[in-house]
Amino acid sequence: MNWKLEQAKLRKAAELGEAVAKAVGFDLAPVDPFAVVHSEGRRLQALGDNFRDAFDGRLEYHGAYFLLLYNTKYDGWDHEGSHHPKVTFTVAHELGHYFLEDHRHYLMGGGGPHWSQTDFESSNLAEREADFFATGLLMPQYLLRKRVNTQPPTLSDVRRARSDFRVSLTSMMIRWVQLCDFPCAVTSVVGDKIEWGFTSPGFKRIGAYVVRRGERVSSRQACSFLAADRSAAVYREGDGWSVAERWLELERHNLEVHENYVVVPSTRQMLVFLTADEDEAAADSNWE
Ligand SMILES: [Zn+2]
Repeated sequence: MNWKLEQAKLRKAAELGEAVAKAVGFDLAPVDPFAVVHSEGRRLQALGDNFRDAFDGRLEYHGAYFLLLYNTKYDGWDHEGSHHPKVTFTVAHELGHYFLEDHRHYLMGGGGPHWSQTDFESSNLAEREADFFATGLLMPQYLLRKRVNTQPPTLSDVRRARSDFRVSLTSMMIRWVQLCDFPCAVTSVVGDKIEWGFTSPGFKRIGAYVVRRGERVSSRQACSFLAADRSAAVYREGDGWSVAERWLELERHNLEVHENYVVVPSTRQMLVFLTADEDEAAADSNWE
């Protein structure tokens, strides 16, 4: 499938998630996916249990109803609210399989020729669609966009939003960057390499689309933060400064960026939240 079509499908999935949040009537954070389950009445039942390492979530078709199974083992971890954000996200992801028409038809056995079993199970497009649905459902633009675009972002804004929306810091950081008109970006570092990342519409406007995936971290302050504990087994934070081109592919040079580092022990990664000054980013500099 071509890239454009794939992006369109993912965007549609996120929009459907938002539409569901709106239809169920959430006008304040957090969006509770269990309330969405209940709003479906008998057509959808949810059952949580400690399924250990078997799976995080699963949706089954039982003729008269769908059964949504979710693993509660992560509720043993520290969290606010009734479930750990990982559990809530799983339920929202499974709701994606329920509400996305192709997915539902596949489960009902009438998926049609374009949905082979392998497509559904291994192509991670279906999985990513369900993730995008979950993102749209839990962090709909109509509840979050204003907050994201009132002033240039700081890590504490993202952290506050994360706690209001009861999602993981990683999910909120990604969503924040997707919606942000100010220049900001998020990257994930595993070991000493940049694993993935996204830039905001505010960064894209000045030509910064692509994160230096697969490259070694070259910001001096980020390197010394990493060197302080390479295990990534303990939560810690820090910050520093460098230039955007160390993280992003960018024509122009010497655009200063502020770096916030957060070590996420559960995934052994370091998140880097990058922000640049809007005026400086907008200024046309030709220092090449
Ligand atoms: Zn799934």
